Amino acid sequence: MHALISGASIAGPVLAYWLRRYGWRVTVVERSPALRAGDGGHAVDLFGPAVEVIERMGLRDRVHAARTRNDTITLFRRHGRAPVTVATADLSTGISARHVEIPRGALAGLLHDATRDDVDYRFDTVIERLDGTHALLSDGSSVTADLVVGADGLHSGVRRLSFGPESRYRRFLGAYLAVYSLPDVLGTGPTVATFTAPRRVVAVYPTASPGRSRALLLVRSPQVISCDHRDPRTQKSLARELVEDAFDPRLTPVLAHLDTADDFYFDEIAQIRMDHWSHGHVTLVGDAGYGPGPAVGGGTSLAVAGAYVLAAELGAGSSTGVPAALARYQAALSEPVRRAHRFGRAVLGSIVPRSHAHVWLTAQTMRALPHLPATMRSRLTSFGSGPAGMLGDLTLPPAP
Ligand SMILES: Cc1cc2nc3c(=O)[nH]c(=O)nc-3n(C[C@H](O)[C@H](O)[C@H](O)COP(=O)(O)OP(=O)(O)OC[C@H]3O[C@@H](n4cnc5c(N)ncnc54)[C@H](O)[C@@H]3O)c2cc1C
Repeated sequence: MHALISGASIAGPVLAYWLRRYGWRVTVVERSPALRAGDGGHAVDLFGPAVEVIERMGLRDRVHAARTRNDTITLFRRHGRAPVTVATADLSTGISARHVEIPRGALAGLLHDATRDDVDYRFDTVIERLDGTHALLSDGSSVTADLVVGADGLHSGVRRLSFGPESRYRRFLGAYLAVYSLPDVLGTGPTVATFTAPRRVVAVYPTASPGRSRALLLVRSPQVISCDHRDPRTQKSLARELVEDAFDPRLTPVLAHLDTADDFYFDEIAQIRMDHWSHGHVTLVGDAGYGPGPAVGGGTSLAVAGAYVLAAELGAGSSTGVPAALARYQAALSEPVRRAHRFGRAVLGSIVPRSHAHVWLTAQTMRALPHLPATMRSRLTSFGSGPAGMLGDLTLPPAP
């Protein structure tokens, strides 16, 4: 059996790894000219079952060695009020007892290393046309596979070619995000330095490269802006406009680097909601099929666990055929996906305050959190996903 996977970041290589274990041949096409590894990109979270999948891949020690070292979050307040610092572990107890945060690029690099020897990776290549499982690639070649998988993120090409335009499935959550790298201008050490105002949050944290940090801007706005195909200069001025310049004087040097950043990323915070993410012999995995929204947590875990479950269903069901395996994959994932979508909305509602009262309440909650009993801390940080946590009801099938 042969799978053609589009996307070589997180879901793609996890799926490739496990399909190889079931004896499939795998081709992965990736739009980027090369892997964006190293400490590149934002920090992502692995919770519960996703940590388990990584361990089953034998990557536990390497993932732990590459994890971020931002073990605390410090909320800086205005008008001379003392900052509030809380352990990130206290903020994630309600989501899962097992949690690792790692730069997305580092995780992608480890996953690529684990698969590069026996997977046919083709960078700088996209699927241009798809007729069933017959794909015409941008390098001029064509592939006829038994299964085509879109693991190509929120703006998936496979989804557009096979399921129709993105606008059908994208649900805007009413906020935008921007991320960029800059020198460590705040000098706040290994903590995630956070500044909030009504409708706006700016977080700055150090990266693994000495003297460098990364800024994440989250802005609530009802304004609908098309984020596709805009040139970075327009996106930068939009981000600045939305953040309304430095709402805290300590942010002036952070925003000063926005214009010169060469890795600036800007997008709307949106979820992908599909009733069915497979048809025939084509399916979607990770953000492409059910992304809960960037920067609200959960997307990476869902991508890793979803890829594992998909491979397991395909591996277990070769006698019953691909469509039956895809139906079982959908059935296994639908409840965790529903929870992750609810979780994403709740996290956004909680981390980007709506009003001055909300800003105040956030600081008070953070102050109280370490002193609360574990059960109450867990309830406060479960973001409506329930006591089992976001992916808690996902039972992983045994490894081959
Ligand atoms: C700023 C930001 C902050 C985030 N913070 C968090 C967080 O704190 N915690 C968390 O868990 N998640 C976070 N996320 C979300 C997380 O990055 C995603 O959920 C996760 O990366 C999903 O993995 P994926 O493999 O499904 O898709 P992606 O990681 O998006 O990978 C898609 C891959 O497909 C490639 N591609 C795209 N289009 C094509 C095409 N047409 N053909 C071929 N290749 C293509 C891309 O280049 C990319 O390599 C954040 C996202 C962003 C943007």
